[in-house]
Amino acid sequence: MVNLQKRIAIVLPKGGVGKTTTAVNLAVSLAIQGKKCLLIDCDPSGSCSQLLGFNSADLNSGLIDLLTYSKSLKQVILKTEMELLDFIPAHFPDVEHEKRLSFLTSNQLLLRNILESGAEIYDFIIFDSPPYLDGITTLVLAATNSVLIPIKSENFSISALKRLTKYLKFIKERYNNSIFVEGILLTMFETNTKASKFTEEQIYKYFGKFLFTTIIPKNSAISESTFYNRPIILYNVKSKGADTYLQLGREIIIRNRTCPLIKVLKKEMIKTVNSEIPLNFKLFQNEPNPFSVSTSIQFSIIKESNYRLTVNNLQNELMEELFAVSLKPGTYQFLWFPKNFNSGLYKYSLVNSEFSEVQKLVYVKK
Ligand code: ATP
Ligand code: MG
Repeated sequence: MVNLQKRIAIVLPKGGVGKTTTAVNLAVSLAIQGKKCLLIDCDPSGSCSQLLGFNSADLNSGLIDLLTYSKSLKQVILKTEMELLDFIPAHFPDVEHEKRLSFLTSNQLLLRNILESGAEIYDFIIFDSPPYLDGITTLVLAATNSVLIPIKSENFSISALKRLTKYLKFIKERYNNSIFVEGILLTMFETNTKASKFTEEQIYKYFGKFLFTTIIPKNSAISESTFYNRPIILYNVKSKGADTYLQLGREIIIRNRTCPLIKVLKKEMIKTVNSEIPLNFKLFQNEPNPFSVSTSIQFSIIKESNYRLTVNNLQNELMEELFAVSLKPGTYQFLWFPKNFNSGLYKYSLVNSEFSEVQKLVYVKK
């Protein structure tokens, strides 16, 4: 019922937005924080290898060999200098290899089927992808659980984001009905520039609920680190860039915590709220009180999907992720143990992977 392995694809059909930087540093960040990770470079340009310090001339196999079934998963996985981080390079040494890829991508489920067995040992699989949606990116979207969308503030393009959301709906209908937006990440963010302010406003307006709390600033140490072929966390751990990528890893670990979900047996204990909202799932609550030792939130789900429950403090905009898990239809009770709550208005939101949402506002007095 609860997904034990989480797969996150870093995707946006736009170049130079920080996909590769985010894929590599997120994988490093998760590994540093004790999670066993596999990073798969799905961009034929092979930039992840470079950033991890592999010399492409020394590589003799990778993703392309996996997709053609000429090598097994075990044979293409490389160890990195970090014990908990493994890596599959793209390995497209010539044009012939790229040509082969265009034939292979007609089987959209190819990568998902290949990862079916042998990759269970990883807590997280992170995919880097190229700046387009068809071809290999479609294979990635069919194989992943969620997408992390990096947005660069200077050249922000709402059209790339809209194109991606449209494409995700198509993927969901055709190849992967449980794909989920992990979050939108602002990258190369500069405070006090008009472009950054504009980006932030637009994103908040249209996609606010998907924004990560973590924002990656524009940081010269990050571009510097590429010349030394080192992820920023390993190049200069004290830099702002390293600090924020570590924070992103923490945020994702918290979101993906396995939660104490208990199936509710006594249906008469549950009362309906927000029943007027025409959604394919409903949120039921038993007057959650963030000040009791444990708070119980009950809800019923009609459709199998990934669900995220969050609680927002509307005074200080702080958000806590209560869970993000894959659930089958049924009624559930969620128990959580809040801490450090003040009086104020709180918003509980249950969101599924089709971006439908139910909310309940609760006023809490200390
Ligand atoms: P492509 O689509 O071409 O693969 P990408 O989306 O993977 O591009 P990156 O290669 O990660 O983008 O980043 C583009 C450039 O921006 C790189 O030179 C990288 O070092 C730099 N960069 C990424 N993030 C930051 C940052 N936070 N601050 C400064 N420079 C950054
Ligand atoms: Mg890239």
